[in-house]
Amino acid sequence: MTDSGPVVFKFGGTSVGGGHRIRDSARLVAAAEATPVVVVSAMAGVTTELTRIAALPSGSSRTDALRTLLERHREAARLVSDEDVPGGPHSDRPALERRIEAVGEALARGLEDDGDPRIRTDALVARGEDLSAALMAAALRSLGVPAREVDARKVVRTDAGFGQAIPRDEVTVRLAWKHLFPLVSKGVVPVMQGFIGADDQGRTTTLGRGGSDFTAAIVGAALEARQVTIWTDVDGIYSADPNRIPGARIIQELGFEEAVELAYFGARVIHPAAAKHAVARGVSLRIRNSFNPEAPGTLIRSDRRETPGVAALAYKPGTALIRVRSRPHFMAYGFLSRVFQVLARHGVPVDLVATSHTSTAFTVDRGEELSLVEEALREVAEVKVVDGLGTVSAIGRGLLETPGVTGEIFRVLGSTPVHLISQASDTSLSFLVSEAEGPEVVRRLHETLVEGPSA
Ligand code: ASP
Ligand code: MG
Repeated sequence: MTDSGPVVFKFGGTSVGGGHRIRDSARLVAAAEATPVVVVSAMAGVTTELTRIAALPSGSSRTDALRTLLERHREAARLVSDEDVPGGPHSDRPALERRIEAVGEALARGLEDDGDPRIRTDALVARGEDLSAALMAAALRSLGVPAREVDARKVVRTDAGFGQAIPRDEVTVRLAWKHLFPLVSKGVVPVMQGFIGADDQGRTTTLGRGGSDFTAAIVGAALEARQVTIWTDVDGIYSADPNRIPGARIIQELGFEEAVELAYFGARVIHPAAAKHAVARGVSLRIRNSFNPEAPGTLIRSDRRETPGVAALAYKPGTALIRVRSRPHFMAYGFLSRVFQVLARHGVPVDLVATSHTSTAFTVDRGEELSLVEEALREVAEVKVVDGLGTVSAIGRGLLETPGVTGEIFRVLGSTPVHLISQASDTSLSFLVSEAEGPEVVRRLHETLVEGPSA
């Protein structure tokens, strides 16, 4: 990270959800001190709709759905350019309309493609970002801001993992400098699609749902950006779910590890891969609300947050605990690997793990496969499953080394039964309680550790 590097502005689906929203977001770009690189998501709901359309058989309902989707973009096109100086240098509504028609035709053609469905789907859903990027570039120009669309397929190089492609760092860094930096240094705003890239053969790939944050982190890291701003529709990252915890408040600053833990454990504000990518490369992120740009948002620092202690509480209901014990005739070694092989075979991710001499316990999301997994595990171990649990995670800095934090947590828990405790770093401490008690436990912990007098 450098102090002089460029900045990246990423606008999520709701921040480009309609013509007025696109225009408001464009105003934030126009007001920026430096020339930002702009990364956009598709208009809210468009990726989901394109995924649905891609799976429909050919016929009138598919044609109608496509027409409605394009009409929504045409409507936005009218709004983003309605303040154009008539005939003025920035008026490019006809060009924008031609662009939308061209994307519409490409979509119609793509739907007829009967090749590999994964390749086909990525090519189709990527059109949502193609459209929003064209709209954003037009909105900027209509405000008099020089802007140029840069196709993310030329910048973000990925493997061929369609639907969940992995970016290739080195090439991407080189391509970002080549295609983005010259524009920024001339004061021209590059507008790029989030979420999409291309493999070595130039085929369109996508980075997985919510992947535009990831694109912003990739571009920000490549260009050694001073900061990546994630413009979304909330004031920042909350210290707990504000729908459940009345005292929840916006966290002003978070360290990287805390942000990554939070992204995994609960807060849906930032894509975990984006936080992780930025963490590894020292780029700071700021979460801000495009609907309320006065709010300072949450800064995710590239170093550690200054004050140690609990910053946030996350809660995840729907957890099942699986306790396994090796059968007496099995050798101790190789036991855990057998257990994890069973889980891997069933594609079941494990969240928390704790082991003792005699048994190992781990948590999985409650799901239908549970009984299958249980059956398969019984072939190698004695198994006990406890369902109806919730995972509570306290996230913060220096949880192990700060005197009194763990003591305080257990004091608040009092006589509440706890089913498993897990702490792998000093950034998070997680434990399981019954779903019936979870929300109340989180409320009490938040009151004491976050809202309390020392906070
Ligand atoms: N448009 C994509 C999605 O909805 C990517 C993103 O919004 O970040 O998943
Ligand atoms: Mg989205």
